[in-house]
Amino acid sequence: MADTTFVLDGRTVTLSNYTVVNDSVLDEIRKDLQLAQADTQPKNNTYSSHNNSFGFSDTIFFTFLIVLIILTYAKPPFLAKIIAKITGVTETDDQNIDEYQNTQYETTAARDYYLYNQNNLDLKHQDIETILDKYFVYYKNLDKQLQCRFFDRVLKFMNSKDFLIYSNEPFKEMPVLISAAAVQISFGLDEYELPHYQYIQVKKEEYFARETLHVLAGNVEDNSITLAWNQVLKGFSNLEDGDNVGLHEMAHALYYQEIIIEKDASDFANYFNQLMKDGEYVLEQKVCPHNLYTPYAFTNLQEFWAVSVELFFEKTPHLQTAYPNIFEHLQKLLKQNPLIPNKPVS
Ligand SMILES: [Zn+2]
Repeated sequence: MADTTFVLDGRTVTLSNYTVVNDSVLDEIRKDLQLAQADTQPKNNTYSSHNNSFGFSDTIFFTFLIVLIILTYAKPPFLAKIIAKITGVTETDDQNIDEYQNTQYETTAARDYYLYNQNNLDLKHQDIETILDKYFVYYKNLDKQLQCRFFDRVLKFMNSKDFLIYSNEPFKEMPVLISAAAVQISFGLDEYELPHYQYIQVKKEEYFARETLHVLAGNVEDNSITLAWNQVLKGFSNLEDGDNVGLHEMAHALYYQEIIIEKDASDFANYFNQLMKDGEYVLEQKVCPHNLYTPYAFTNLQEFWAVSVELFFEKTPHLQTAYPNIFEHLQKLLKQNPLIPNKPVS
C-alpha cells in the first residue's frame, strides 16, 4: 500500500506504508502531543540528555496543540473509523506478536521509556541463543560456523547501542531481534555495527512523527533508528510477503552509514550506484509489471532501495526472475545470496 494522506485542521497528515490505524495509535498520537507540550518545560529527569537528539520547533508545537484539542474533542474511536475508512487499513493481528514476547524485563517504576545498554541489557549468551533459535529463521538456517559469526555480531552490535524502549512492557527480545535484523542485511560485509547510530528507539506500536505529521512504523533520523515493535514482529512472522520493517529501516541506516558517513569508495558504493540506475529504470515505468514492488517503492530511490532489500530476503526467487540485474547487484553489494540459506555468505 502506498502512502495515504488526509487533512486534519488544514494540515496534511500522512499514513505510511506500514501504518495500522486503531484506537491505540490515536492514543499514542495524543500522548505524543502531550509529551510535546511537556518538552517546552524545563527538564529534570535522568534521561534528559537524550532529548537533545530529537529536535522540536515552536511553530509545529502550536500546530500540534490545536490538533491535540481537536483530537481530544473529536472522540478518537469515531475519528479512527473515519481514518480506517479513508485508508482501508485493517487492525494488527496481535496473536503472532504475543508469542514472540516471552522474556520481559523486570521494571519497578513506570517511566516514559526505559534505557538499556551494555550495563543493564542483562542477557546471558544462552538467552540470546535461545531467542535467535526460537524466532530468527535466518539464523536458524545458517550452518554452525556461520551461526557463531552471526551470534558474535549480534552481541557486539547490541552492546554498542543505547536502546530506548517506550513501553511499560520492555522485552529482552527487543534488543536481540532488532540487532539481528541489522546483522542479517550486513552479514556479508566486514563492517556491521552502524556506528553512526547510537540510539535504537523502540515504540510499542506505530507512532506519530511530530515534525513531518506522519504516522510511522519506523524511521531513521539523526543518530537514531526508531521502530514500532508490533510491526517488527509482524515483519518477522511472515518471511515471504516482502514486508519487513526491521530490514527496511536497517537498509536506510546501512545506506547512510556507508555512502554518506564513510563515503565508501569500494564495492558497496560501486554496486549501490548500479542499483540506483536499475531503480531509475524501474521508477520510470511508474508501476511494477511483476506484482512484486509495492507502490511505496516508487516514492523515491531511497524507498526503492529499502524495499529492494526486503524483496531480496523475502521474495528472493521472484526478484531474481523478474529483475535479474537488481538481484545480481544486490547480491554483489551485500555480498550474500539468500538462495543458499545455510551458507549465504562465504
Ligand atoms: Zn523507508
